[in-house]
Amino acid sequence: MLSKVVIANRGEIALRVLRACRELGIRTVAVHSTADRDLKHVRLADESVCIGPPQPAHSYLNIPAVISAAEVTDAVAIHPGYGFLSENADFAERVEQSGFIFIGPRAETIRLMGDKISAIRAMRTAGIPCVPGSGKPLTDDMTENVRIARDIGYPVIIKASGGGGGRGMRVVHAEAALKAAIQLTKTEALAAFQNDAVYMEKFLEHPRHIEFQVIADGHGNCVYLGERDCSMQRRHQKVIEESPAPGISQEIRDMMGRRCVEACKTINYRGAGTFEFLYENGEFYFIEMNTRVQVEHPVTEMVTGFDIVKEQLLIADGQRLSIRQEDVVMRGHSIECRINAEDPKTFRPSPGRVNVFHVPGGPGVRMDSHLYDGYVVPPYYDSLVAKLIVHGETRAAALARMTTALDEVVVDGILTNIPLHRDLVRDAAFAAGGTDIHYLERRLALD
Ligand code: ADP
Repeated sequence: MLSKVVIANRGEIALRVLRACRELGIRTVAVHSTADRDLKHVRLADESVCIGPPQPAHSYLNIPAVISAAEVTDAVAIHPGYGFLSENADFAERVEQSGFIFIGPRAETIRLMGDKISAIRAMRTAGIPCVPGSGKPLTDDMTENVRIARDIGYPVIIKASGGGGGRGMRVVHAEAALKAAIQLTKTEALAAFQNDAVYMEKFLEHPRHIEFQVIADGHGNCVYLGERDCSMQRRHQKVIEESPAPGISQEIRDMMGRRCVEACKTINYRGAGTFEFLYENGEFYFIEMNTRVQVEHPVTEMVTGFDIVKEQLLIADGQRLSIRQEDVVMRGHSIECRINAEDPKTFRPSPGRVNVFHVPGGPGVRMDSHLYDGYVVPPYYDSLVAKLIVHGETRAAALARMTTALDEVVVDGILTNIPLHRDLVRDAAFAAGGTDIHYLERRLALD
């Protein structure tokens, strides 16, 4: 088994990785910025190394600093979590060149799937249905761009090929706005992702976001762990996720799951991964693949009983997948609410001191959070501070359990979006299941 792992992340996911390492008897090294000395996992880790000042560019994104931390502590592998360096192919490459194991896919796979245009091309070749679109980068030739948009049909969406985190996308409803939208998205993409390639897709007006979790060992074994519905979103960012997706039959799940597994085999995938689709009128359209563990992985763990982070560690150790497809049985229903340190009305970040943190409990309730009484949420990072996850025998039971748990949780001292979640779990359309990706924004616009 891996002897020592560097956890190159912070917050709840760093704690999640630490717990999985502990259970497998792996020693841990927490790397952290000067603002994060008091993080829970830093205190719990076997060793910790400060890698720089608060700004992510100088600490969590500082590749030489992270690799040096692995060197000085004699670690053997690096777990990147999600965000930060997790989908940075250059990082994965340098980790491996420096003699460490990168806990994730090979660098070339990250590169292929990290560029959305090349990912879509690869998936089309592998027989995965994609959103009708340009399929290639847009040029400055506006006559051609106008023709592509007319062929696709308005509204269209201009997307940055290197985009992520819900940024680098712009919807265009009419031809008159096309040129400016392409130019603006290109400029933004260059500034944010150092890559000005943009492409065009049909903007789907009532889709749901349904994604499939896969896990592959790099020795030719790959399984799918069912799907998640992540349609409750604001600004293309997920707010609530659940598994299974309401209304998806076992036949459809197996058909799509098998296709994703086949696609993984085509690209010789290794590690945990997610195929994201938009689902409209009974059809799936691939939008992108995430080559890392995702924020919402716990809902899959709750219904399948498998520990995705442990599997990542075992695969990184070179072991064969311990799960066979016939072992994957989805039981009951799981829902996750992302709790952010933000104003529930204006969504402005709300960093500061947490005076009281009270975690709900009872059967089927899981809270993944790095908060504790007296912890100060720093202003420099993503506002996600906790994930409340529940499991119930049915979707209705899970929803009732989430309602109870949300009423029980206390985060005093900072503002959070818990009031929004309390509203949403009582929302009739959400309770019915199958609301689309624009539902939350439409609902917020009415308030
Ligand atoms: P990111 O990498 O930034 O997460 P994605 O390509 O995964 O970007 O898209 C994020 C979200 O943006 C989707 O879940 C969906 O809500 C919206 N979106 C993306 N493409 C389309 C599209 N063609 N039509 C409608 N909505 C879209």
